[in-house]
Amino acid sequence: MSRPDGSPVSTPADPQELGFDPAALRARYRAERDRRIRPEGGRQYQRVTGRFGYYDEDPYAEAAPLREPLHDRVEVAVVGGGFGGLLAGARLRQAGVESIRVIEKGGDFGGTWYWNRYPGIHCDIESYIYMPLLEEVGYVPRWKYAPGEEIRRHAEAIGRTFGLYRDAVFRTQVTGLRWDEDACEWHVSTDRGDRIRARYVVTASGTLSEAKLPGIPGIETFEGHTFHTSRWDYAYTGGDAGGHLHRLADKRVALIGTGATAIQCVPHLGADAGELYVFQRTPSSVDVRGNRPTDPGWAASLSPGWQQRRRDNFLTLVTGGQVDEDLIDDGWTSTARLQQKLIPSDGYRALPPKERERAYEIADFQKMNEIRARVDAVVTDPETAEMLKPWYRYMCKRPTFSDGYLETFNRPNVTLVDTADSHGVESITENAVVAGGTAYEVDCIIFGTGFEVGVSGITSGRLPVHGAGGVTLAEAWKDGPRTLHGFYSHGFPNLFQLGPLQNASSVNFVHVLDEQATHVAEVVAEARRRRARRVEPTAEAEAAWVATIREKAADLYAFQAECTPGYYNNEGMPRKRSESYGDGPVAFHALLRDWRANGGMSEVLVDAEPDRA
Ligand code: NDP
Repeated sequence: MSRPDGSPVSTPADPQELGFDPAALRARYRAERDRRIRPEGGRQYQRVTGRFGYYDEDPYAEAAPLREPLHDRVEVAVVGGGFGGLLAGARLRQAGVESIRVIEKGGDFGGTWYWNRYPGIHCDIESYIYMPLLEEVGYVPRWKYAPGEEIRRHAEAIGRTFGLYRDAVFRTQVTGLRWDEDACEWHVSTDRGDRIRARYVVTASGTLSEAKLPGIPGIETFEGHTFHTSRWDYAYTGGDAGGHLHRLADKRVALIGTGATAIQCVPHLGADAGELYVFQRTPSSVDVRGNRPTDPGWAASLSPGWQQRRRDNFLTLVTGGQVDEDLIDDGWTSTARLQQKLIPSDGYRALPPKERERAYEIADFQKMNEIRARVDAVVTDPETAEMLKPWYRYMCKRPTFSDGYLETFNRPNVTLVDTADSHGVESITENAVVAGGTAYEVDCIIFGTGFEVGVSGITSGRLPVHGAGGVTLAEAWKDGPRTLHGFYSHGFPNLFQLGPLQNASSVNFVHVLDEQATHVAEVVAEARRRRARRVEPTAEAEAAWVATIREKAADLYAFQAECTPGYYNNEGMPRKRSESYGDGPVAFHALLRDWRANGGMSEVLVDAEPDRA
């Protein structure tokens, strides 16, 4: 392997030197993918509506208290009270906007962290960079990886700090948005009969928010107890997010799914259930966690701006950039560093893409070999250990971290049932889960089967949005999404969307949401200052951005086509191009800052007073 100038690069290619055979690994990965591919792709799942609607009920809130429908006017309506909506509210408040109403389906703020309260729930990203607005709220998390309850409480604290409870409505779902051209405002309707008028609307309804169920034959015939991990039924299991599920002591429990959620709840189910059957289709990669309490001395030493510096450090490192020091130093960043070790910074740009990809692949094989070796080191039964080994590249699935998951399979009451050859659980009867021709009789089935992906109400058309002239967003986007910077679309004035679409993406997505919220708040502040009648990109600006997204789109096809199926690769039917900004989030955030600083806002402010700043 050499650089274009002929000088050698350090990546070894020889199996003997490497200690493994890349060709053999490649072949194994492909075989593992092939035996899992299902021709129906995403259609194998079903929504938790209609006869399955009970999987979506809120187990945490009392029945929605009756209230009179609201018929009033606010300056900004924010759809969704998770971190996206909270950040939008907080940044708008900082920009001087007083009249903000957050409209939220759950009984309180928190979004993901409101709904997901399963035992063991923790954030898999370091809390100091994941939990937003720490300095503004005056809080330092108690653990390097915070438990869900602490994160949910922090969401509530943001609501209090920024006065967002004042006008918020909970247990309320937005059912439609309609633009009123004459009044230059949105009509927001909800399932509680509200008719709210809003000058601006920000949608922040999440991308992994709708639970999904597998379409397993007979699923509706099960007569025992059942729920989805995102609506954990503590009335049935006993205990709380810290575990102690004492009511399961005499129960036979099936958990279907082994993704990031299952990795966290399995140790508690294994410890407390009479019998636990874990039904696995594809094993997760499970790396060391190493959670630890926050050092009070370190917390006291933090100087203003520390959170932004830390978040930027992580984002730069995990997206292939160079930093002087790895401030996070965990599983995410060590993998990024491993890749960089094989591609020295001075050689990175000089390497032709093919050689760069080869170096990445070698680093990936090394990382996954480590992950597989860890399974052998922890799991005592060799057959079970074999089943728990992931055979795919590191980012084919969300990597996971746990110091208790693999250990759980050493317990005598825990059985791992591999379902890869039958493409998942074969069927469900009134009292059993069937796999490999065996019926496992159980009292309870818990579905850890994940969420509909990238389907916000807006993109799916389930939340009808009627823009100027009554045109729906679904019609305007019939040939694909059309936005400027992901935020706004021509014909849909004063509507801002948060999310990764035609914007940035990252494993620490709350960081991206904060950049988005900051941008929206600055644009709204400028629109107010210059008394703009509306905020809307021209059709030309929108077309240019769509072209930029296409031109820069990372071609993930080759990588994803070799992955075992899952939601990262559209269930084995990878899309040709990514819809996020191809140069990555660091470059995208710089682009937005530059756009704001250099007159970009004039492009979207319609009938604004001249800029006299
Ligand atoms: P996932 O979609 O990751 O996992 C679903 C699981 O269900 C997979 O193991 C899947 O197998 C399995 N499955 C689906 N259908 C069947 C079937 N018919 N038979 C057997 N098994 C089946 O959902 P999660 O809830 O685990 O995680 C979703 C996302 O939520 C994560 O990727 C992450 O982004 C986020 N998350 C984040 C956390 C954090 O700390 N930040 C913690 C937890 C989740 P297969 O893989 O073969 O499809």
